Amino acid sequence: MSFVWKSYGAAREVTGSNHLIEYSGKRVLIDCGVYQGKGSTKRNEPPFPFDPKSIDTVVVTHAHLDHIGRLPLLVKEGFQGRILSSRATYELARLSLADSVSIMGADARRENRRRKKRGQTKTVQPLFDENDVFETIDRWDANLRYDRTRTLEPGIELTAFDAGHILGSCSLLFELSGAGESLRIAISGDMGDDERILACDPATAPRAELAVVESTYGDRDHRSQADSIAELEEVVRNTFERGGNVVIPTFALERAQELLFLFHDAWTEGRIPKRTKIFLDSPMATNATGIYRRHLNLLNDDARAKFGDGCDPFSFSALEYTRTTHESARINAIDSGAVILAGSGMVTGGRIFDHLRHNLGRPQSSVVFVGYQAEGTMGRQIVDGTDSVRIHGRPIEPRASIHTIGGFSAHAGQSQLAAWVAETGADEVFLVHGEERAMRPLATKIEQQGARVAMPEAGKPQKLAIGAVH
Ligand SMILES: [Zn+2]
Repeated sequence: MSFVWKSYGAAREVTGSNHLIEYSGKRVLIDCGVYQGKGSTKRNEPPFPFDPKSIDTVVVTHAHLDHIGRLPLLVKEGFQGRILSSRATYELARLSLADSVSIMGADARRENRRRKKRGQTKTVQPLFDENDVFETIDRWDANLRYDRTRTLEPGIELTAFDAGHILGSCSLLFELSGAGESLRIAISGDMGDDERILACDPATAPRAELAVVESTYGDRDHRSQADSIAELEEVVRNTFERGGNVVIPTFALERAQELLFLFHDAWTEGRIPKRTKIFLDSPMATNATGIYRRHLNLLNDDARAKFGDGCDPFSFSALEYTRTTHESARINAIDSGAVILAGSGMVTGGRIFDHLRHNLGRPQSSVVFVGYQAEGTMGRQIVDGTDSVRIHGRPIEPRASIHTIGGFSAHAGQSQLAAWVAETGADEVFLVHGEERAMRPLATKIEQQGARVAMPEAGKPQKLAIGAVH
């Protein structure tokens, strides 16, 4: 069979998702994300390891930047095809890409000022600009719907399923057929944990011969979310008793909206003090919340039931959305009783710096990490117990109480990943989107279930051991 699979990104690592299916002369990319973490600047630069002009279609699983962040670069480098995703993914992606291009522009201007001061003449350019983002948006077809099959190319059919990871996230089924042979490929995409606060449970896996599964947490199962919620509420109560504030570095998509839900419940049900003021200090998260509000039909039953009867977890009297920098700066006058949600989630930029500047050095306050902190980020430094961080050029000794609450993961744990693979009935499994130490225990578990497992290497064609089904 003329089928080729290549993982260019998220191959034995968790970022830069970018996979290629080649079949019958057609080339379909799945995601085109940025690399994040150490050494990523260089890795994100062109050229791509394939000719962007040769790609017919890009199918986007969901709107996280490590899955969409290089799409404008792909377009800039000559991609002429269409980009296909769910409606909610399109709306969130449009927001994320606009945000990312403005951050890149600001970073480049700052760096060029610095170089000028030093008498350097060589300037840096952002990877892409607003025009590339507009052109990317123009190429987008947002009509990929859950549970509907559509023909991508002759002999290539595609069906999307709810992956339960973030709003609009998709698992995919490709059905290839021609010349008396066929192959079904089930691709998990980033897959959510069961019983998420907003997302539905991931859909039942489709039947397939080949399964391609993410493996971010292939080595473990998560602790229960209920314990994590109780822990978060306790941190808030204790911090306020000490006379401090709670600062939470927050990812703008899904995590921010989940936290609003949790605090809405905790506040209306009296588990945190009535005087609590909750600030969502992230214009990007505020805009994303508007998109969630337009797609309440995609939330799980429990989440949907929270709206109505005068109840609205995205709008209640203890909650304030701060848009302008002036509104944001006003929060700094509050010594105690504030819960401040601000970006970025790994403390790599944004308004979180201002709030850490005012609270990180105070023993009365708390900083709570509710998401993964990658190596090399300030978030990771603080979690690892560093003696000092530099914020806006000034050293600060962390004296606030630091908490990591891990039960809010947007990714499925090991048992659920293995169960999804079993549901596909696949004889052969490719592991992607995980570090090798997380992949190996999952590989062992899946092999015990009777399937062959491979871990594609970046850019190398991954051969199919099972061959095509005739
Ligand atoms: Zn993701």
